[in-house]
Amino acid sequence: MKTLLEYIHEAEEKGIAIGHFNISNLEALHGIYNATKKLNLPIVIGLSEGEEKFAGLEEAYALVSAIRTRDNYPIFINADHHTSFESVKKCIDVGYDMVIIDGAKLPFDENVAITKKCVEYAREVSKNTGREILVEAELGYIGSGSIIRDSIPEGAGVLTKPEDAKKFVELTGIDLFAPSVGSIHGLIKSGKPHINAELVAEIRKSGGVPLVLHGGSGLRDEDFTNAIKSGISMVHINSEIRLAYKEAIEKSIKENPSEITPAKILQPAVDAIAAVVEARLKLFSGIK
Ligand SMILES: [Zn+2]
Repeated sequence: MKTLLEYIHEAEEKGIAIGHFNISNLEALHGIYNATKKLNLPIVIGLSEGEEKFAGLEEAYALVSAIRTRDNYPIFINADHHTSFESVKKCIDVGYDMVIIDGAKLPFDENVAITKKCVEYAREVSKNTGREILVEAELGYIGSGSIIRDSIPEGAGVLTKPEDAKKFVELTGIDLFAPSVGSIHGLIKSGKPHINAELVAEIRKSGGVPLVLHGGSGLRDEDFTNAIKSGISMVHINSEIRLAYKEAIEKSIKENPSEITPAKILQPAVDAIAAVVEARLKLFSGIK
């Protein structure tokens, strides 16, 4: 099996992007994997600190590893938006394939310092174990939390400058970079954010490492395709699958009020997540 970084480079060469979807339970994992396997694409499963707390750090790793081993399938696990070195270290120690150290809210120098510490640790573990461990970091605040918002959060949406991206990548040695290029975490009620594809291309060139787009939920199709053509190699979707999950369960309970079997109540939620993931993966991969 290729490594995640090899899949990322391959995606970039093909002008497509790998999907990154979050889970906090088994239904989401099944929904994401059902759609992914059907399309035979590599996939990254992410857990934020909150999702990890609910699902269990080791439990989530065990579930993803079980699928990878059983099906010999390129399914990877990422510690999404971790805010401390200790929480990143824990995930690396357990076996996560990649980590995101989120210092986006910190001043530039502090963001560099915490990111560098995580990169150094990942490299040390890689050296000792032979495992590939990718480190992603971000510069430019795009809000936090996969929630439904009335408007763009305060302080968010400041675009990353290409020269800052270059400096940040050089100083930290990260593998993947998450820039602020117009998207915002969460689903925004009042209008859709717009991706600055020219800026994506400039940052890809100046930063020199593959780029990851966060806050993908709710963007227009052409924003995704332009961003991917311009240098985005991985796209994060979370809010859209959270919404699909919640609506499917509400409908399931309403339509079958006497049903108490969890598997029956929750199957529509698995299918709803799979439908969202399938549509997004087709778009990211140029599959009609
Ligand atoms: Zn994100």
